[in-house]
Amino acid sequence: MSDKVNFGDELVSPEEKTRRVGAVFSSVARRYDLMNDLMSGGMHRLWKDRFVNRVKPRTGEAILDMAGGTGDVAFRMARRGAQVTVADINADMLAVGEQRADARGLDLTWKVENAEALTFADASFDAYTIVFGIRNVTDIPAALKEAHRVLKRGGRFYCMEFSSSDWPGFAKLYDNWADKLIPRIGKAVADDEESYRYLVESIRRFPRPSAFKAMVAQAGFVRANAEPMLGGLVTIHSGWKI
Ligand code: SAM
Repeated sequence: MSDKVNFGDELVSPEEKTRRVGAVFSSVARRYDLMNDLMSGGMHRLWKDRFVNRVKPRTGEAILDMAGGTGDVAFRMARRGAQVTVADINADMLAVGEQRADARGLDLTWKVENAEALTFADASFDAYTIVFGIRNVTDIPAALKEAHRVLKRGGRFYCMEFSSSDWPGFAKLYDNWADKLIPRIGKAVADDEESYRYLVESIRRFPRPSAFKAMVAQAGFVRANAEPMLGGLVTIHSGWKI
């Protein structure tokens, strides 16, 4: 059995993958939000709005936004009155997020954490969210188990991730966009073609929604659900802890 894992299309050791993912996000941190707008034509804002509408944050509840990066999803939930902890393995992404939160007058908790081995106590949160983060995690089943552990009974798990589209015609259009244009935009705007090539490859390698839904159920969540958006380009996954 091989202990190698994929870093994009390359096979590397698990430790090397975690290190290289770290380097990717340190490299893109300062340009991350601008690049999201350019790569998605602003669509990521609508996806995040839709996602937060599904999570339905309530005043005072404790939410862990895992792999929260520069805070985009966390800010939306904090504005609805939730007490949000933003956790991410990458201190550079969190530092950009903290600056953005200050500029917006938002009060959140920021913490460097590896999704695979969280330092939070069991049953700490009412909801756990992870947006465009889990495909970068080296050991996804370990991260799902940790999500289940830190949630209270009745807690909600919500994940949004890219998926490969099945729509005829659209899939080809997307492939062209992803393979040719995204790395070029990465080079032009962030002077970093390689990191953006990794992001495209990691999307392609992520399990299909039905397979990921089974992994969510395997981690102990009930009513695991996968809701496709935009022809299946993005999927919102959910589950409950009972
Ligand atoms: N959720 C944010 C958003 O939607 O704008 C950021 C998403 S960004 C594409 C992916 C994030 O996952 C990065 O900030 C990266 O540092 C984080 N990440 C990667 N591996 C991780 C891990 N093992 N534990 C925690 N965060 C991780």
